[in-house]
Amino acid sequence: MNKDIATPKRTKEILDKYGFSFKKSLGQNFLIDTNILDRIVDHAGVTERTGVIEIGPGIGALTEQLAKRAKKVAAFEIDQRLLPILKDTLAPYDNVTVIHQDVLKADVKAVMDEQFQDCDEVMVVANLPYYVTTPIIMKLLEENLPLKGIVVMLQKEVADRMAAKPSSKEYGSLSIAVQFYTEPKTVMGVPKTVFVPQPNVDSAVIKLTLRGAPAVAVKDEAFFFQVVRASFAQRRKTLLNNLVNNLPNGKEKKADIEKALQDSHIDGKRRGESLSIEEFAVLSDRLSKAFL
Ligand code: SAM
Repeated sequence: MNKDIATPKRTKEILDKYGFSFKKSLGQNFLIDTNILDRIVDHAGVTERTGVIEIGPGIGALTEQLAKRAKKVAAFEIDQRLLPILKDTLAPYDNVTVIHQDVLKADVKAVMDEQFQDCDEVMVVANLPYYVTTPIIMKLLEENLPLKGIVVMLQKEVADRMAAKPSSKEYGSLSIAVQFYTEPKTVMGVPKTVFVPQPNVDSAVIKLTLRGAPAVAVKDEAFFFQVVRASFAQRRKTLLNNLVNNLPNGKEKKADIEKALQDSHIDGKRRGESLSIEEFAVLSDRLSKAFL
């Protein structure tokens, strides 16, 4: 019987065998606890009907646990040095494809079409490289990929921002972007001790369940996000000031902004962080009349 990759002993053996040295710049913190991995796969609800996209398989710790339960796993790995290691460690599993590519540059939709024809659903499951957590999540969401959900390990602080509610200090444009496309839920906190090397920050696993349709219907998605970003540009400033200072030609269009706020029944003296996603939708549709 094959021994699991994700134990301190086997991980050390593999790293020693290949003389592998971690690259901090690639966010390489490998998991050495099968219990945590099992729980991640449980939260993702992976079954023999599921196709899984993994980002950053490392030496295959999570990939192996996914391969045992999923129909297929397609894993994007940027670090060429890991390819021969993965070939070795994942040899017992014939349902895994490792793709040597930066996921940020990859055509994920094409990979899904090619790999998951015979799967009923597709989940993204990963222990993300922390230096690019947000760009990866935003890429997956903005490309409107036909995903059921995303279950990923990331910095606890970023998980908190993604799941934050209005008027909390963590609430900002990332919360709105993530909640526009998904229903986020932090499913567990994870101690530093289950990684090698140990990261400097606390970690958590978040589950993002894709919505059938965006949380709010807006006339222009790009403009909606522009309004959201402008509203949070300087957190101490009022909503009116932020919109005037940060929307294109906002100063000349101050009267239009004031009117849009009034028509939306939103007090311009409020701070952006107090607005719900529904209020941002109403406001951006009103503002779009003057700006688009
Ligand atoms: N899944 C493994 C585990 O849990 O032990 C490794 C996780 S480690 C936190 C992140 C992995 O992502 C590393 O293997 C790293 O080389 C890879 N990686 C970093 N940036 C990447 C990118 N832009 N595209 C694909 N993989 C990347």
